[in-house]
Amino acid sequence: MGNQPMVVLSEESQRTSGDDAQSMNITAGKAVAEAARTTLGPKGMDKMLVGSTGSVVVTNDGVTILKEMEIDHPAANMIVEVAETQEEEVSDGTTSAVVVGGELLDQAEDLLDQDVHATSVEQGYRQAAEEAKRIAEEMAIDVDAGDTELLQQIAATAMTGKGAESAKDLLAELVVNAASNVADEDGVDTDDIKVETIVGGAIEDSELIEGVVVDKERVNENMPYLVEDANVAVLDDALEVKETEVDTEVNVTDPDQLQQFLDKEEEQLREMVDEIVDAGADVVFAQDGIDDLAQQFLADEGILAVRRTKSSDAETIARSTGARIVGNVSDITAADIGVAGSVSQQEVGGNQQILIEDVEEAKSVTLLLRGGTEHVVEEIERAVEDSLGVVRVTLDDGKALPGGGAPETRLALELRQFADSVGGREQLAVEAFADALEAIPRTLAENGGLDPIDSLVDLRSQHDAGNTTAGLNAYTGGAIDMETEGVYEPLRVKTQAIESATEAAVMLLRIDDVIAAGDLKGGQVDGDDDDDAGGPPAGGPGGGMGGMGGMGGMGGMGGAM
Ligand code: ADP
Ligand code: MG
Repeated sequence: MGNQPMVVLSEESQRTSGDDAQSMNITAGKAVAEAARTTLGPKGMDKMLVGSTGSVVVTNDGVTILKEMEIDHPAANMIVEVAETQEEEVSDGTTSAVVVGGELLDQAEDLLDQDVHATSVEQGYRQAAEEAKRIAEEMAIDVDAGDTELLQQIAATAMTGKGAESAKDLLAELVVNAASNVADEDGVDTDDIKVETIVGGAIEDSELIEGVVVDKERVNENMPYLVEDANVAVLDDALEVKETEVDTEVNVTDPDQLQQFLDKEEEQLREMVDEIVDAGADVVFAQDGIDDLAQQFLADEGILAVRRTKSSDAETIARSTGARIVGNVSDITAADIGVAGSVSQQEVGGNQQILIEDVEEAKSVTLLLRGGTEHVVEEIERAVEDSLGVVRVTLDDGKALPGGGAPETRLALELRQFADSVGGREQLAVEAFADALEAIPRTLAENGGLDPIDSLVDLRSQHDAGNTTAGLNAYTGGAIDMETEGVYEPLRVKTQAIESATEAAVMLLRIDDVIAAGDLKGGQVDGDDDDDAGGPPAGGPGGGMGGMGGMGGMGGMGGAM
């Protein structure tokens, strides 16, 4: 038998197999979860993220943190994807999903050490996840569009611990009003809710405007401030003389010729305006510029026109008025025109803005958010987006669960009973899954500076006694009734988190071979991890990521974590 190894990989490839590969991936996944966990809950801390260009984001939002970190370890990225999926599907619960994912990996590591095979862990986890979702659905209470108070509680819970905290009741009210304003039989389409931010003023000055607000003024003084029963044209075009493709030079030899040339230009502009008038429009939103002369012609016709409309605004206007965006003015017809009860220029939030009200097509509202500084406004916007998302999801499914670790404690309890019926090695994995879910109340307690063991004991005994809505008082550590506290979340935030955390953990566990074409960024692949990833995720001594093949882009933020 020849001992010659057969070489199938290129020389630059790196290969890590078996236990090393598994351990490397688990460590990377856990390190990501570790980075996010301190932000969980009402007492969670914020992170300051400094981008490679020096941009600064201060946030408490799980998915924002993980995205800004620009993680490029392949296994770590799978955990980041958990957060992204959670964000896309339900807008909230990103940190929770990542924390549970990291905990599932941590528990799996112990099981693998006890020689439980990865396949058994996988099967146990999958059974536990199915059972957990079933129990969560059983626990959930019904919500409908009329339950304003509960919806506001759900909206407020999603904003807890973020920059919006101080004004969360007012913002929750605005969010629920916005959602019920645009809700129809298909539920809430968040595209109908435009979020505008204004730097300056207090968060409490934020307001809901029933209509589309466009941060623009009419292009010419002689145009009307108000057009009622407006016929709206939206142009992805300029109302300017079309430049010729090639540079041309016009030689004029006498004043008549110059006049002719200018007349020609005027005629072109005149024709464009005539096209608009013929189509029946009395309001024009152009995405490009409008020539001075064209402005004058439009004003003479009593048309209110806006130039350089942002394309996202143009889309909202088109959606809500039923207008069709026209790429070339000469093609405009009556069929492209949308309608609105009124279009006006008014002072909104301290600035002159264009306001489109009483639209026919899709009812649209604008949430005008204000805050003292750019960073405050941005964090409020993220919180409000989450909040809008959870209200939409709640109205879609009509189901909610108490928060504060109540469902996780309950699920853990029931899963441990369920584990007995599973038997075999899988039983251990189901029990581990129960422990992993309890990472939520445990982390909430830790982040509140409380004793996690005492808190868990307290919570478990409440649930043992049948208090299914007992959750953690993040401020005192005791168990309190989440129903009385008004801490509620959509059911889907929990079920989605369980689903994606399980998928990611299982996927990482199944990998027993990592073959990298070329060098894994950041250096050597080394699976040794004795430190439980407890240290800072990058740069710090003893941190799990030291030899992990890089979490690119994190260098600048070591001190902030
Ligand atoms: P995520 O990104 O997972 O949404 P958050 O930082 O928003 O992370 O924290 C969510 C957790 O905080 C949930 O478990 C939620 O039930 C809990 N929570 C929110 N508000 C409260 C509160 N007032 N008291 C206790 N727990 C709360
Ligand atoms: Mg949240």
